[in-house]
Amino acid sequence: MNISILVFGSEHFLTTLPDQIHDASTFKVEAIANLNQAVSQIQVKPPDIILVQASLDGSMELCNWLKEQIKLSWIHCILLEDRPELITLRNQNDWEWELEMNASALQQGADAYIWQLPGHTTIRHRLLLAQLTVGVRKAQKYRDLIRTNDLLSAIALADSLTELNNRRALEWDLPRQINKARNKNNPLSLIILDVDYFKRVNDTYGHLVGDRLLQLLCTRIRHNLRFQDTPFRYGGEEFVILLSNTSCQEAMVVAHRLNRIVSEQPFAINHTLAINVTISLGTACLQAEDDLKGTSLLGRADKYLLQAKSSGRNRVIGCDCQSQLSRSTHLQVLSS
Ligand code: GH3
Ligand code: MG
Ligand code: MG
Repeated sequence: MNISILVFGSEHFLTTLPDQIHDASTFKVEAIANLNQAVSQIQVKPPDIILVQASLDGSMELCNWLKEQIKLSWIHCILLEDRPELITLRNQNDWEWELEMNASALQQGADAYIWQLPGHTTIRHRLLLAQLTVGVRKAQKYRDLIRTNDLLSAIALADSLTELNNRRALEWDLPRQINKARNKNNPLSLIILDVDYFKRVNDTYGHLVGDRLLQLLCTRIRHNLRFQDTPFRYGGEEFVILLSNTSCQEAMVVAHRLNRIVSEQPFAINHTLAINVTISLGTACLQAEDDLKGTSLLGRADKYLLQAKSSGRNRVIGCDCQSQLSRSTHLQVLSS
């Protein structure tokens, strides 16, 4: 593992550090001596460990700032005390004074406080290297945690059969999309679709063929959406598509297109079996009175889906409100 170290210190200070720190195969070291530059660098590319030269202007501010950054709390911050006046005082004072200094440094945000006493190089370097080991351990654990967390999030939010986002992901995403659309005054639309007579597929060919058909259907639908349109498996053979920055009329165009691309070509399950299916779709677009979670928006689209089913299936029914301006390129791209 390549550990990144940010040294907040002068070029000379860098030369006083143990040789092992300069071993490029273990550590990637960058030195910055300006507080603002250091803060920007940490925000853009957080290092695993920060070594702070106490005598440099802004050293305590940096420790304080770091302590307040909840998202950067895993960075191990080592404060190296080299202020000559303090080193002189330390020699004159008792151990209680020294403990007081240690406590104060830790309270200000450092994870470790090491005195850069003149001489004593070997033991000083040993102590610093031991603290680096603590930082490395912390970084390793943090990275493992992030990896596991990403994996668990992906598992929790994905549907294993179709690899689409699942219903939990929709419940997480829909309120956020609504909030974003309202803040930016952009339209937001939603399509809900259901495979027609899907039970017959299972009953005729078995569930494995039914599963394969759902996978192929999802792939076809996904390939016919824009990057910012997000499909979800709502449950069973029902799917929801969130169309950001898309008006009602545009959503109807998209829905009609999906309806067509599903029905016009059979799905090749294997070399000998191809199955024709159709879908029914309902569309709705966000209105001022819709709730924050999207329940009423989803409910309206579902009501239109039921109408599409009851009026014969293989069709789109949706809201045709004219209130929102066309903002996306769906009309040109998808109706072509
Ligand atoms: P309708 O046109 O009214 O929607 O008819 P339908 O047959 O599609 O609807 P119904 O609700 O009667 O049946 C849905 C079927 O979808 C029943 C269920 O077993 C099947 N199904 C749901 N999820 C899966 C799945 O993951 N794999 C398979 N193979 N079948 C599934
Ligand atoms: Mg169905
Ligand atoms: Mg259904």
